[in-house]
Amino acid sequence: MGKPTGFMEYKRELPPDRPLLERIGDWNEFLQSFPEEKQRIQAARCMDCGIPFCHSGFLINGMASGCPIHNLIPEWNDLIYKGLWKEAVKRLLKTNNFPEFTGRVCPAPCEGACTVGINDPQVTIKLNERAIIDKAFEEGWIVPKPPKVRTGKKVAIVGSGPSGLACADQLNSVGHSVTVYERADRIGGLLMYGIPNMKLDKSIVQRRVDILEKEGIKFITNTEVGVDISAEELLKNYDAVVLCGGATKPRDLNIEGRSLNGIYFAMDFLRANTKSLLDSKHADSNYISAKGKNVIVIGGGDTGTDCVATSIRHGCKSVVQFEILPKPPSARQTNNPWPQWPKVLKIDYGQEEASAIYGDDPRIYCITTKKFVGDENGNIKEVHTVNIEWKKDSSGRLIPVEIEGTEKVWKADLVLLCLGFLGPEETVLKQLGIEQDERSNAKALYGSFKTNVEGVFAAGDMRRGQSLVVWAINEGRGAAREVDKFLMGYTTLP
Ligand SMILES: Cc1cc2nc3c(=O)[nH]c(=O)nc-3n(C[C@H](O)[C@H](O)[C@H](O)COP(=O)(O)OP(=O)(O)OC[C@H]3O[C@@H](n4cnc5c(N)ncnc54)[C@H](O)[C@@H]3O)c2cc1C
Ligand code: SF4
Repeated sequence: MGKPTGFMEYKRELPPDRPLLERIGDWNEFLQSFPEEKQRIQAARCMDCGIPFCHSGFLINGMASGCPIHNLIPEWNDLIYKGLWKEAVKRLLKTNNFPEFTGRVCPAPCEGACTVGINDPQVTIKLNERAIIDKAFEEGWIVPKPPKVRTGKKVAIVGSGPSGLACADQLNSVGHSVTVYERADRIGGLLMYGIPNMKLDKSIVQRRVDILEKEGIKFITNTEVGVDISAEELLKNYDAVVLCGGATKPRDLNIEGRSLNGIYFAMDFLRANTKSLLDSKHADSNYISAKGKNVIVIGGGDTGTDCVATSIRHGCKSVVQFEILPKPPSARQTNNPWPQWPKVLKIDYGQEEASAIYGDDPRIYCITTKKFVGDENGNIKEVHTVNIEWKKDSSGRLIPVEIEGTEKVWKADLVLLCLGFLGPEETVLKQLGIEQDERSNAKALYGSFKTNVEGVFAAGDMRRGQSLVVWAINEGRGAAREVDKFLMGYTTLP
């Protein structure tokens, strides 16, 4: 433990994000860093408590408490405080293949379980993680390390999101020859084409992909397994196959007027925006523009926030975000104690930006959409809503009940549906005869990651449903361990 009294002496502090009105003028990352001295002070706040819940990563009421990949947080906090950055990065990379991603986009369940957080603001764990890995890249410590020996075993991975990349990295490190198939034109899954550039710069994703390639992983883009190459062919040509195709089927809103022009799924909006940005800095106009439009984002979650922030950067006229659930409390409630994931109001980057421009948080709570109304050309013109309240039915279940007299008509030129995802696409699953669970995900037990077909494994969102980058890394690593065991009869992978 670096500084025994650090948590009493120093206050939690984060570097300010880039100024709101400046950053909405570009697509660059909004996060900034601390100079080294300030960063060390933040690390000194770690108490190195007897039982560090921050790295436990167990589930309480279905939500992660602590870090799902069991990052050795107190150890690297201590090393940062002592200025032993090279040692800190070694500890960090023991558990996390891609801290440069999680240090930017993870919602940080570790911080919700931090012991300092019981009666003081938590340690800045996520910031500390990013500081370590960013310094390691700056110093040139992260270099390709190809395996010294090859086993002669071949593994195919379908999908190049964080689960596929983590799985590939682990399997390659022990000498297997790994090929990753990706239907998109760039590698990275939702790291590349879901999470917007201002939250995770795509050069950071590409930098890691380049390292993995130099270490010997083969990436095949623009190739959809099940369409361009059959899944059976993979089974024939490889010793094992890992399905990491994500959970990309969007939930729709099948109400009157759904077929009008100007209503899109969030991912169609976000994917096209990033692709056009990367291909031509938007010069090709191959994206759905929100410029000058009244935008309605339906869905109050993180994807909705990304749509708000993207619409603002296009120069939308107005933006509102509908959420069917009630506004969360600003502090933990007694039924949501530490170290549970804190269910409290989060003001994310998109809401901060909207407030700075339009004067208010764009979120409207307890509201449901009744119908879409179009103009004579079939373009969306209005969204009709009604407010709801949550009441218990006869069985004690909370259900939404419409409040009479609260009907409202909203002007709309663009509607973005951010209602979550229903599960994985099924082409590959059907071709291989993979059993699916009750939520339509690939059926494979957590821990073994084995499907019902010999030699076929499943990991990430495709197995657990739409989740988080940190869980995708956890599952990719776990699946790699099981594949290695399957191929070699034993494993040294964690
Ligand atoms: C808009 C958005 C923002 C998000 N923001 C965050 C965030 O800030 N923080 C966070 O922790 N999580 C976030 N998430 C969730 C997170 O991105 C996912 O949980 C994570 O990426 C899942 O990783 P994965 O590898 O399982 O799948 P994915 O990242 O979905 O990757 C799957 C890949 O498989 C490819 N694929 C599918 N089928 C085939 C096939 N048949 N052949 C070839 N390729 C195929 C797809 O093209 C895709 O590239 C966000 C999700 C969305 C939608
Ligand atoms: S990966 Fe996420 S949960 Fe784990 S230490 Fe980093 S920010 Fe915390």
